[in-house]
Amino acid sequence: MNKMTVRDLGDIKGKRVLVRCDFNVPMKDGVITDENRIQGALPTIQYLMEKGAKITLCSHMGKPHNVLDPVVKLNKKEQAKIDALPEGEREAAKKAALEKAAGDLKKLSLKPVADRLNELLGGKVTFAHDVIGPDAKAKVAACKDGECVLLENLRFHEGETKKEENFCKALASYCEIYVNDAFGTAHRSHASTAAIVEMGLVKTAVCGFLIEKELTVMADALEHPQHPFIAILGGAKVADKLNVISNLLEKCDTLFIGGGMAYTFIKAKGGKVGTSLVDDEKLSYCKDMLAKAEKLGKHIILPNDTVAAYAFPDPIDAPIETKVVDTMNIPDDMMGLDIGPATRQMFANMLDNAKTVIWNGPMGVFENPTLAKGTIAVAQALADLQGKATTIIGGGDSAAAAQQLGFADKMTHISTGGGASLELFEGKVLPGIACLNDKK
Ligand code: AMP
Repeated sequence: MNKMTVRDLGDIKGKRVLVRCDFNVPMKDGVITDENRIQGALPTIQYLMEKGAKITLCSHMGKPHNVLDPVVKLNKKEQAKIDALPEGEREAAKKAALEKAAGDLKKLSLKPVADRLNELLGGKVTFAHDVIGPDAKAKVAACKDGECVLLENLRFHEGETKKEENFCKALASYCEIYVNDAFGTAHRSHASTAAIVEMGLVKTAVCGFLIEKELTVMADALEHPQHPFIAILGGAKVADKLNVISNLLEKCDTLFIGGGMAYTFIKAKGGKVGTSLVDDEKLSYCKDMLAKAEKLGKHIILPNDTVAAYAFPDPIDAPIETKVVDTMNIPDDMMGLDIGPATRQMFANMLDNAKTVIWNGPMGVFENPTLAKGTIAVAQALADLQGKATTIIGGGDSAAAAQQLGFADKMTHISTGGGASLELFEGKVLPGIACLNDKK
């Protein structure tokens, strides 16, 4: 890893530091339901506090439909709907829309995160009710050495995702040093994730411990893997993982493909897939990948047997009757929804010898207990490798599955960023990391 980290900053007592965190935590009725991301951010924040920096923390939360600029403003679509109404109805409709928007925005406030951080950090965190407004400016200015201010949700401003110059300048005015520790958004080029550095508004830009760990473990596994190196890909669509499949084939020895994506490969091999999820436009891509694997002397392993049903479960966790069928011969009226027992066993046997494993994407419709067995079996096989191999889960659904099963501490690394880790697996450079200062 050739990027500077907070450890390389030297004396930062009294210096103003802006830390981009990923506090996009799941919440229900204003209560945080999983605080992993908050816990993940603590080492960097505590380090900066101990060094006596004046810290401004920032993050996005969800995808707000409207903005606070500085009062609630409706988005173009909602405004257009109101403009299309007869004149007499517009005012009342606008009032109702603004009230609804204010309520929706409140649900995406970072205030509950500030409260929890304040508990975890000994009462040293204050919350600013805006991002570049008067409250934030006053609180950042009043911040003492070793204390923190958490700004309100960055995406309450269009300037965040649109990288507006005024917004970038206002954010940059809070700091002399920028720290990116939000791996989950490092693949995005937004104001707070890259633009304030790319525009030259902050000269000193380093990563925090969380990004350092993500990069060290994942880049090392990809660039210098111990062999056998097995990659496991699942999830719904081939189209979402085109470059991942191609890049991983060059790095790994064996690629397992499960989940909905497997059936496009099966069809490309001449199998009968019934009503399974298939992307006909990607059949030739799958044929190319099968040929590429052969040329490189690599193995693409597809499921032998499939757990199939007559229809997709609705609701997704509804009881469902299933049948185990040959993956190359799925009946015309059935769809494949999970890898079958023979495939689970085959994957587990092959994984037993692996020295490096990376995994992204569930093996089936794991939201349904009857169709979760393939995903559980893979998680179990990785957990069984504890101490024998490097095991990495690239965030998203597979990470959630391993966590729910209580296997988290049996893995070498579970990434905090599904999208970002997929882009690393694709071999892409992430803008939130590229912009940081190189080690001298
Ligand atoms: P992704 O976001 O691409 O990782 O896909 C995750 C989704 O893929 C989950 O919601 C699964 O329910 C879904 N999925 C996995 N296997 C299948 C399958 N065989 N058919 C349809 N959907 C699937």
